[in-house]
Amino acid sequence: MNVVETRNLTFGYTATPVVEDVNLTVEAGEFLGIVGPNGSGKSTLLKLLLGLLEPDSGEARLFGEHATAFDDGERIGYVAQSVTTDTSEMPITVREAVLMGRYPHVGFGRITEDDRRKAREALETVGMSHLADRRVARLSGGQRQRTYIARALAAEAELLVLDEPTVGVDAESVAAFFELLADLHEFGLTVLLIEHDVGTVVERASTVLCMNREVLFHGSPDDFVESTALAEAYGATPKIMGVSE
Ligand code: ADP
Repeated sequence: MNVVETRNLTFGYTATPVVEDVNLTVEAGEFLGIVGPNGSGKSTLLKLLLGLLEPDSGEARLFGEHATAFDDGERIGYVAQSVTTDTSEMPITVREAVLMGRYPHVGFGRITEDDRRKAREALETVGMSHLADRRVARLSGGQRQRTYIARALAAEAELLVLDEPTVGVDAESVAAFFELLADLHEFGLTVLLIEHDVGTVVERASTVLCMNREVLFHGSPDDFVESTALAEAYGATPKIMGVSE
C-alpha cells in the first residue's frame, strides 16, 4: 500500500487554486523532497496530504484512507517549521515531551516501563539523552527539532513530515539534523520534507517533487538536476551547492 496517493488534487483558499491537479504517489520507505519558490503551494500540499485541508476537487489518500478521514495520528510525526508549537511553551522536560509520544499507545492505561524504555531509546537515537531533564522551552531550535523527532520515534511513527524543519537552526546543527534524517530513512521511515535548500534535497532525498502550483518535476534527484524544472520554477537556474555541472 502507498503511504500517500493523490489524484487530480486541487485546492485554493480563494477561487484561485494554489495547488492544482497534483498526481503523486509516495511509497513506503521513500524520502520525498519538495522544492519550489515561496508561495508555490508546498505547505498547502502537505496540509492536504495530512488531511488538514479539504480538497476542492480530486483526492488525497493517506495509508489508503481518505486523508481527511484518517485518524491514526500516531503513525505520523509532523515537525512544523515554526518551533512555537504546543509543547515549546509548556514547562515540561525533553523526557516528558518524548514520553507523550507513547500516549496514543497507552489508551486509558498507565505508562509502563516498556513505554519509558521506548522513549529513552528514541532520545538516544536523536542524540538528546544528555538533555533529557532540560525544559523544552530552554532548548535551541535544533535541539527542539530533535526532541520532536524523538517523540515521533517513541510513537513508532511510520511517516515523518517536515516543513522546513531547520529554519532558524545554526549551520552545524542543520548538517547533523540531515545526517539523522538520512539514518532514519535508512532505518525504513518514510520521509516527506519541504526544504528551501535545493542542494540538500538533491543530496538527501530519494525522490524530488518540484512544484509551482502545479507539479513541474517528479522523479530522481539526478534527473531533476538535468531537467529544466528548476529554471521553470524559480525563473532562473539557481546554483545548486555541492552538485557538479
Ligand atoms: P509555500 O509553502 O510553497 O511557501 P504555501 O502553501 O504556504 O506556499 O502558500 C501558497 C499560497 O497560498 C500563497 O500564495 C499563500 O499566500 C497562500 N496561503 C497560504 N496559506 C493561506 C491561508 N491560510 N489563507 C489564505 N491564503 C493562504
